[in-house]
This record gives sequence, structure tokens and C-alpha cells, in this order.
Amino acid sequence: MYPIFAYGTDAQKDYWLPKLSAGEKIGCFGLTEPDFGSNPGGMLTRAEDKGSYYLLNGSKAWITNGTISDVAIVWESLTALCAGFIVETDREGFSAPEIKNKFSLRASVTSDLILQDVQIPKENILPNVKGLKGPLGCLTQARYGISWGATGAAMAVFDEVLQYSKSRIQFDKPIASFQLVQNKLAWMATEITKSQFLSYRLGQLKSANKLRPQHVSMAKRNNVGTALDIARVGRDILGANGISNEYQTFRHMANLESVNTYEGTFDIHTLIIGEDLTGIPAYF
Ligand SMILES: Cc1cc2nc3c(=O)[nH]c(=O)nc-3n(C[C@H](O)[C@H](O)[C@H](O)COP(=O)(O)OP(=O)(O)OC[C@H]3O[C@@H](n4cnc5c(N)ncnc54)[C@H](O)[C@@H]3O)c2cc1C
Repeated sequence: MYPIFAYGTDAQKDYWLPKLSAGEKIGCFGLTEPDFGSNPGGMLTRAEDKGSYYLLNGSKAWITNGTISDVAIVWESLTALCAGFIVETDREGFSAPEIKNKFSLRASVTSDLILQDVQIPKENILPNVKGLKGPLGCLTQARYGISWGATGAAMAVFDEVLQYSKSRIQFDKPIASFQLVQNKLAWMATEITKSQFLSYRLGQLKSANKLRPQHVSMAKRNNVGTALDIARVGRDILGANGISNEYQTFRHMANLESVNTYEGTFDIHTLIIGEDLTGIPAYF
């Protein structure tokens, strides 16, 4: 919804936003390509201006909800029009095969998008943005939400593991009574609290219109990386039970592996923060 909300015409907003917000229509966001993930600036999907319409060719990879979407926002090459397009998924030449056999986010549909000579009406271009700042502006919004969501996963893990450690008896005592286990629990509670404060501060900056993408990178990087570490330690505290789906910790751990990669990998956010601090880009 955000690309249409932020960069669309009134007609695009009036048509799509009520339907998408009501869940009557499903949308997806197509930026990543098979050969361009962390470096979307290299993407190859391109739109040709054919006078009365645009002709879109290319492919996207790892797109959430692609197969079940009614509409795809497709971003195309910076060497062409540098634009985003609203692509109705029933258009001829568009297909979205599902990516099967994932270990992570198994309840979420993930897809390739294939665009072969897809004709797009002129009015489907998102007119109010050009270049990479279009998709990156959307990612800044999503990453803010992710910083909270990952912390929620860490909290669920902590709750489960705390309860378990108080009831699991070894050497005639609850494992929660061992100092090594308490050290892990104390670390988890502290890191969760730090993550909550980071996201809370982002919210304050957002409300004051002072939020910068680099702030969001710091929270996405920290909170997802920390939640993943917490889930791994939590899995250890659960012992063998930790690999059973009777407990939710392993599921959170597997899902957080995706979250650590999507919306900018942990290391790409490190580089974004590093560039902001030093003024020196270290991507290439
Ligand atoms: C479940 C799931 C859902 C997704 N949903 C969407 C979606 O809806 N829409 C969408 O557009 N995309 C989506 N993605 C794709 C996601 O955004 C990309 O996977 C992500 O940007 C990383 O790209 P990549 O997988 O090609 O990894 P790569 O870019 O190939 O990176 C591989 C490794 O190399 C490292 N690396 C890359 N460049 C550098 C560098 N300069 N310096 C140091 N290290 C580097 C990375 O940090 C990483 O560790 C999704 C991915 C997953 C797993």
C-alpha cells in the first residue's frame, strides 16, 4: 500500500487503497531480482515507452505474496525510466510461481515474478517518485515495523523459555536455579528492553518528522540480529524439546533467519551506519 499512498495519483489511491486496506485485494512489492538483492541499483527489469503503453520485461525473486497478489508494485531499472509500476497480476505475460521448500517463513507465500512483454497502461506508472529513493523510501517504513516485530518474536521466546526453565528439573532443581541459565535469561531480558527502547525512540523521531533511514537501519540491524541471537540461546535452554514443534522458539528462530536477510541484510545495515558515521561508503 505504501508505494501507492506515497507516490501514486489520487485516482490510483482511490481505487487501490480502500481495497488493499480491507483485505479485498492483496498486493506485493517487487524489487529484488535473481541477480540483484543487496544491490538493487543493478536491477535489469525495464519498461519501454511504446507511446500508448509501457512494455515491461524482467524477473523478480523472493517476493512475498507474489502468487496470491492481485497487484504487484514492480520497480524497474535505473537505466530506463527509473520508475515503479502498478501491475495487475491478471495481465498477459505476468506469472508468479511460488518458491517451495523453504525452511523459514513457511506460512508465508514467497514467489518469483516473471514479466514477459507485459503491456501496462500509461496511467499505471507511479508518477511522484523517480530513482532508487522510491523503493528505498518504502523500505524505511517497513523496516521500522520490522524493528518492533522482531522484538515481539524475542519476547515470545523469552516468555516460553522463562516458564520452561522454572519447570524443567535437572540435578533435582529447576534449571532456572543455575547461574549459567540465569545469566542467559538476564541477558535476554536486558537485550529485549534495549531493543524496545530503540524502536520507541524511532517512533518518537518519526512523530517529530526527524526520522532518517540510518536511524531505521540501526534498529532493524540491532533488533533482528538480537532477536535471532535470543532465539538461538532460547533453543539451547529448551534442550532437546527445543527442536520440537511443541515449542515455538525454533519456529521464531527459523523465521528470524529470513528477517535478518530481507529488508536489507544485517551487514548491509552495518555498512549504511558505517557510511553515515564516517562519510565513506564501504559497499564496493
Ligand atoms: C522470505 C523472504 C521474503 C522476501 N520478500 C521480499 C519482497 O516482498 N520484495 C522484495 O523485493 N524482496 C524480498 N525479499 C528479498 C530480500 O530483500 C533479499 O533477499 C535481500 O535484499 C538480500 O538479497 P540476496 O538474498 O540477493 O542476498 P545478497 O545480496 O546476494 O547477499 C548475500 C550475502 O552477501 C552480503 N553482501 C552483499 N553485498 C555486500 C557488501 N557490499 N558488503 C558486504 N557484504 C555484502 C549480504 O550481507 C549477505 O550476507 C525476501 C526475502 C526473503 C528471504
